[in-house]
Amino acid sequence: MFDFTDNQLKLQEKIRAFIAESVTPRLDSIDKGECQKEIFKEWCKTGLVCLVAPKAVGGIELDTKSCAIVMEELGYGDVGVATALGANNLGSYPLIIAGTLEQQKQHFGALLQGKYGAFALTEKGAGSDAGAVATTADRKGDEYILNGSKCFITQGGYAIDMESSLIIFASTDRTMGSKGLSAFLVKGGTPGLSVDKVEDKMGIRGSQTVELKIENLHVPVSARIGEEGQGMKIAMKTLDSGRLMVAAQAVGCGQKALDLTIEFAKNHMEGNRPLSRQQAVAFKIAEIEAMVTAARQLVHRGAFLKDSKQPYSHHSAITKLFATETALYAANSAMDIMGTYGYTEDLKIEKVLRDARILTIYEGTNQIQRHVVSGGLLRNRK
Ligand SMILES: Cc1cc2nc3c(=O)[nH]c(=O)nc-3n(C[C@H](O)[C@H](O)[C@H](O)COP(=O)(O)OP(=O)(O)OC[C@H]3O[C@@H](n4cnc5c(N)ncnc54)[C@H](O)[C@@H]3O)c2cc1C
Repeated sequence: MFDFTDNQLKLQEKIRAFIAESVTPRLDSIDKGECQKEIFKEWCKTGLVCLVAPKAVGGIELDTKSCAIVMEELGYGDVGVATALGANNLGSYPLIIAGTLEQQKQHFGALLQGKYGAFALTEKGAGSDAGAVATTADRKGDEYILNGSKCFITQGGYAIDMESSLIIFASTDRTMGSKGLSAFLVKGGTPGLSVDKVEDKMGIRGSQTVELKIENLHVPVSARIGEEGQGMKIAMKTLDSGRLMVAAQAVGCGQKALDLTIEFAKNHMEGNRPLSRQQAVAFKIAEIEAMVTAARQLVHRGAFLKDSKQPYSHHSAITKLFATETALYAANSAMDIMGTYGYTEDLKIEKVLRDARILTIYEGTNQIQRHVVSGGLLRNRK
């Protein structure tokens, strides 16, 4: 569980090379929301466009620990880029859980050709409470007709383009609440899908976040993933897996904050002594190192539980909670140590801090993770 295999070490090197060539030189443009498509194109050339695509449909079907290694390195490079490139995995996972071979061939066929995927669950009024989804899917003969809207959808504007492929959650029975939710595989380019708004965000500007309008979108019955009413279960299982990947990104982000802090503390002179000689600073560095290391171990343990087919939902929530709070603490502490220098754009920590902020919010806020963790714990105790 603790050691990396030779293949995992090679994979780590490969991602580091990708970051060094395609991401780091562009960090300023990325922060302006530019070059998202160029980076995606370069990512496709690595052969890692969809980490979770099954071998049966021509994918690489990486184990979860290897996926975590990829996401940690991407998170170190840029959390926005990691979010964008991770969307093809999040937007595929419902098909790993409940997709037919035909659905998998259609979806992964598109993604493996360098197209975009997305996971469209959240709506205004249905974020933390996914059971409140108001988008409807009405069955008419051998079709469903979807109407409604989605918000904050990562890469959604790209995934509705011709030949891309996204997964939309809609209610097939609004009287049933969360038990009326169903999942649908939708081909990009299907009439009835449009972008209502592209969000201008505080951070992670390397990823696109949009509101989608869904108007009389016709999909065949064969596009339904699983049975009617299984949507909530599919979405929650997808998020269990996705949260481990958010945590992995957070580990990368925390590690970057730590590395930037060490570089600053060793080189910034206070009088004739480097700042790192101050015990208060050195102790803070030790604390961040301990937290990042612990977060990484939680991620790897989660990957082990998942790959060995043991229950991991509770662990995934703990891991997301701890790793993302760690990333935020690391970035904020780095800013404390760098002071006014950190507050300028020169040292890059202000961008890391802005990027880190989302990690405690998306794929279930950390308040929701606290619900999951405490709920599971209290239910099982007398
Ligand atoms: C950049 C970005 C990318 C995203 N990408 C995607 C995507 O690709 N696909 C997708 O479907 N969604 C996506 N989301 C949506 C994201 O997962 C939700 O925003 C998130 O789950 C929170 O939902 P909400 O914003 O509606 O907050 P709300 O549910 O409205 O909550 C508001 C606040 O109340 C708190 N709260 C709510 N309920 C409780 C409770 N029961 N107990 C305690 N506190 C509570 C929350 O923690 C939060 O602080 C993205 C969001 C962002 C910002």
